[in-house]
Amino acid sequence: MTASRWLAEYAWLPEHAEPTPDVLIETADGRISAVTPLTAGRAGVTAGVEVYADAVRLPGLTLPGLANAHSHAFHRALRGRTQGGRGDFWSWRDQMYAVATRLDPDSYLALARAAYAEMALAGITCVGEFHYLHHGPDGAPYADPNAMGEALVEAAAQAGVRITVLDTCYLTAGVDGRPLTGPQRRFGDGDAVRWGERAAAFTPAGGHARVGAAVHSVRAVPAEQLSTVARWARERDVPLHVHLSEQPAENDACRALHGCTPTRLLAEHGVLGPATTAVHATHLTSGDLGLLGEHRSGVCLCPTTERDLADGIGPARRMADAGMPLSLGSDSHAVVDLFEEARAVELDERLRTRRRGHFAAVELMTAATADGHAALGWTDAGRIAVGARADLVTVRLDSARTAGVPPVGVFFAAGAADVTHVLVDGRPVVRDGRHLTVDVPAELSRAVAEVTP
Ligand SMILES: [Zn+2]
Repeated sequence: MTASRWLAEYAWLPEHAEPTPDVLIETADGRISAVTPLTAGRAGVTAGVEVYADAVRLPGLTLPGLANAHSHAFHRALRGRTQGGRGDFWSWRDQMYAVATRLDPDSYLALARAAYAEMALAGITCVGEFHYLHHGPDGAPYADPNAMGEALVEAAAQAGVRITVLDTCYLTAGVDGRPLTGPQRRFGDGDAVRWGERAAAFTPAGGHARVGAAVHSVRAVPAEQLSTVARWARERDVPLHVHLSEQPAENDACRALHGCTPTRLLAEHGVLGPATTAVHATHLTSGDLGLLGEHRSGVCLCPTTERDLADGIGPARRMADAGMPLSLGSDSHAVVDLFEEARAVELDERLRTRRRGHFAAVELMTAATADGHAALGWTDAGRIAVGARADLVTVRLDSARTAGVPPVGVFFAAGAADVTHVLVDGRPVVRDGRHLTVDVPAELSRAVAEVTP
C-alpha cells in the first residue's frame, strides 16, 4: 500500500450515476494526480495489471473518503448500555452525562482515538466532532483551556483521520436561560464572547485538523447571544453547525418563549447561511424548510441515532428538494456505519410515505462523501478527481453481504465490515480490514471500561 498507483476494480467517479470499472488512480503528495478509466471493461483489469505492474489492485468498489459529519466521540462509551427499560431522549441524556463527568484529557484522548479508529475501519476519512466538553468537571478551565479539544485533535492524528473540531458554544440549560448545573457545568464558557475568545485561541497543529463553530441548540445559547457565535464563524469563514429541532419539546419551549420556531429564531439572529449545517432538523414546519432552503443551509441526518433515541424521522426528501445539501453523521455512535446511515435516509422515507424510490444511489453516495466533507469545510475532499485529497475507501464485493450485488447497489447492501482498504491523504490507514496502528477492539474495551460507571 505504499505505491502511489491504485487499480480499482470499480471506482465511483464524480458526476457518474454508477461506478466505473477498471480505473487507474494515481496519487502524489497526498493528492489524486491522475484518474484513468482503462478501456475494454473487465478485461482491462488483466491488461492493466500487466501494464501497471507497480499498481496495487483494489478488488471491489473504491469510493471517495466517507465523512462523518456529526460525532460526539465520548458517546461511544454508551453503546449497548442504554437499551434496557423504557425512556426517551431525556432519560438517555442523564446516562450520557454520567460518562461526561468521568472524562479528563487523557481518558478523552484514549476513548476518542479508539472511536475514531473504529470510524477509519468503517471507511470514514474525516470526522466532524461537535465538541462541548471543554472544562473540568466543576466548570473550572484546565491549565490549557483547550486541553480537551487538543485531545480530540491528537486522537484523530493517531487514528489516521482528519477532523473538524466544531467548538460548541453551550451556555444555558434550557430555552428559558436557566444556568448550567451539575454535569453540564463543564460545557460552559459563561457567555458567547468568552466562548469566542477561548475558541479563537484554539489553533491545532497538523494539516489534518481544522476548527469550526457550533451553537449547541436554542436550548443552550440565549437568543441575544446567537449572533455573536454566527459572526465569529462568518469572520473566520468556517463551518457553523447547530442541533435543530431534534425533539418537539425544544420547539414547544421556543414557541412559548420567543413566539417562533427554533429555525426562525436562528434565521433572525444570523445563524443560517451556506456555511451552516443544521443537525437532525427532525421536526420542521413548511416555513422552516423554506427558510433553510433560502439560506442554502445544509442538514446533517443521523438516522441510526434518531431511531435509537426515538426522535422521529426528518423530512429528508423535502429538505433536499428545498436545496439543502444532505450530510450524514453517526452522532451517538450506537452504530458506526455510514452505509447504514445512507440507506436509512431512503428507507425511513419509505416507512413514512409507504412508497419506494425517493433517493438515487448516487445521491446517498454524495451525502456520505463530497457533501459531508464540504459541511466540515474540506471542500477539496470526497471526490475521486484530479487535485482532490487522496482518500480512497475500498468495499469488497465478495463478502456474504455483498456477493452478487452490483456495485451501484453497495449503499443498500454493504456494512462497515466490508471496508477493506482505506487511504487518507495518500496514507494507508486500513489494509485488508485491519487498522494499521490501532488495535481497535482492545482499545475500545479499555477506554470504555475506564469511563463507565
Ligand atoms: Zn449531536
